[in-house]
Amino acid sequence: MAQWRSTAEFRFKKKHGKQSSYHCTSVSVGDNWIKIPKCKPIRAKVHREIVGKVKSITLSRTLTGKYFASILADDTQEQPKQIDNLEANQVVGVDMGITDLAITSTGHKTGNPRFLKKAQRNLKRKQQALSRCKKGSKGRHKARLLVAKAHERVAFARNDFQHKLSKQLIDENQAVIVETLKVKNMLKNKRLARSIADAGWHSLITKLEYKAKQEGKHLVKIDQWFASSKTCSVCDLKQEKMPLRIRSWECSCGAIHDRDINAARNIKKQGILKLKAEGLSVSADGGLRKSGRLSVAA
Ligand SMILES: [Zn+2]
Repeated sequence: MAQWRSTAEFRFKKKHGKQSSYHCTSVSVGDNWIKIPKCKPIRAKVHREIVGKVKSITLSRTLTGKYFASILADDTQEQPKQIDNLEANQVVGVDMGITDLAITSTGHKTGNPRFLKKAQRNLKRKQQALSRCKKGSKGRHKARLLVAKAHERVAFARNDFQHKLSKQLIDENQAVIVETLKVKNMLKNKRLARSIADAGWHSLITKLEYKAKQEGKHLVKIDQWFASSKTCSVCDLKQEKMPLRIRSWECSCGAIHDRDINAARNIKKQGILKLKAEGLSVSADGGLRKSGRLSVAA
C-alpha cells in the first residue's frame, strides 16, 4: 500500500474527472515512486517492500483529497499449504469484547483503543460548526472537510491497530478461533451496537481470515451457538445465568474464572472440535499424543 501527495495529484484529477478510483496495469514501482502509463513517475510513500512482479495498481482518492495506491504484485510463490498437524498449545481462542477488543484463551487482553469515542467530542464540535455554516458558502466547504478529516483519522488509526493485532495473532499461532454468531446477536442490541461498531469486530475477523490464508494457518469461525460465557471451561458445567456485569465467577468445581478468558477458552475448545471434525489432527496441550484423522462430532 502506498500513499502519496504530489504534483501529479492535479494531473490525475484532471485526467480522470470525478472518478475516485482508477485501475491500471503495465505499471512499475520504485522505492519512492510509482509509474503509471502516460504520466511521469509520481512521488509516493511506499509503506511496504513490493515483492515480485507488479501486476496492477488501483488509485483512489479519499474525501479529504488523500491519494492511495493499492498495488497488486505476484511473488510467483504458491500459497502455503495449510498446516494439518496442529498442536493445541498453538491454537488460540479469541473472545471479542468491548472493554478489550480481544481476549485470548492464554489470558492476554488487548485493551480497546476506542478511537471513535475519544474523537467523538471533537467530531461533534466540528459537525456543529458545519451546521452553522451557510449553505453553499466557502466556510461550509471548509467545515465539511474538517469533519471528513476527523472521520478519516479515526478510521486509519483503527485499521492500523487491527492490522497489528491480527498479524500478531496469526504469526504466533497455527489456528485462531473466533465466535461469529455473538457478533450478529450483539449488533441487534442497539445500545451495544455503537461500541461494537467502534471496536470493529467484523473488520478484525476479515483481516484475520486473509492473513491466515497467506500463512497457511487456520481461522476457525464458530457460528454454531454455544454458551461460551456461561460454561465452565474446566468442568463444562453450564451456569444458568451470567449477566454482563459479572466479570469473574467461581464454578462449583472450584475453578475461578475471569469471564472473558473463560469464554475464550471455551471458544478454543469448540474450535479444536471443529478442526478435528474437518479431519485435522490436533495434539493435546503440551503432549505428544496425536489424534487420528477420525472425525469428532462437535
Ligand atoms: Zn467448573
